[in-house]
Amino acid sequence: MPTSLVTGGAGFLGSHLCEALLGKGHRVLCLDNLETGSLANIEHLRDDGFVFLHHDVSEAIRIDESLDFVYHLAALASPIDYLRLPLHSLKTGSYGTHHALGLAKWKRARFFLASTSEVYGDPEVHPQPETYWGNVNPIGPRGVYDEAKRYAEALTMAYHRQQGVDTAVVRIFNTYGPRMRENDGRAVPNFVGQALAEKPITIYGDGSQTRSFCYVDDLIRGLILLAESGEHLPVNIGNPGEFTILELAENVIRLTGSSSQIVYEALPVDDPQVRQPDITRARQLLGWEPEIALDEGLRRTLASLGRDPARA
Ligand code: UDP
Repeated sequence: MPTSLVTGGAGFLGSHLCEALLGKGHRVLCLDNLETGSLANIEHLRDDGFVFLHHDVSEAIRIDESLDFVYHLAALASPIDYLRLPLHSLKTGSYGTHHALGLAKWKRARFFLASTSEVYGDPEVHPQPETYWGNVNPIGPRGVYDEAKRYAEALTMAYHRQQGVDTAVVRIFNTYGPRMRENDGRAVPNFVGQALAEKPITIYGDGSQTRSFCYVDDLIRGLILLAESGEHLPVNIGNPGEFTILELAENVIRLTGSSSQIVYEALPVDDPQVRQPDITRARQLLGWEPEIALDEGLRRTLASLGRDPARA
């Protein structure tokens, strides 16, 4: 039975990954400081092969048993969290990644870095292939997340090239689904929460900026395929279906049958104007393709909240 350690394992993506790995028969060590993760996300994982470790990755990690995989997901992934805790974001990306890589090296485990489409910044190439180096403002408010992830990628490649650690890097595009925090601050949970509460839907800017939304089950399947491949260079995982934020809001209103009105608020500094993954590499290397379109994914998300999507 392989043993996997998942940093950030009590978070949105981390908890889904832990669940999927347990389903594959892995023993899973879930490490989380519970800053943005929550025990509620993992309380259903009562399994002999599941262990929770309350720990902050920016402190050294000591594990006594052998490990086959180190999945490093710990991060403050939502803009409201990294804007609230900028130094913590930088420390998790730098010290945290250093500790997780050091652990993988010591255990001779495959290291898997959860990187992000944010490494492309406000992209001047569209859609974004992995060969694009990005357009990031290092000193802007998003820099504390974007640069931490860019540094984490550089560190991962250096451990691979100089120290021979078996590493993988996934660039995760916007993902949504059950277990996103109600107060996560990102577009999907905000709009769903606002629509269900019949409160105004807050669009930042004019809503013409685009994102491409991947349902969590598709994403986790791609992550595990990449972790189990022999690939070392970054691979985009995301759903290429691209929508304006206004279209997203309209879809949520339609599916919830809400009477919420749209209100327009200021666009955050350095908010990317467009984003869509080029998934050619994921298709070729992993045979991976997302299967769940936005409409269906939103229906499943609403169902997880006990709401019947409107028939409209
Ligand atoms: N956004 C919005 N209203 C909200 C939350 C987000 O209009 O209540 C916008 C945000 O400005 C961005 C897009 O939705 O253009 C996606 O934001 P999110 O925080 O979900 O993810 P990211 O910016 O990291 O892609």
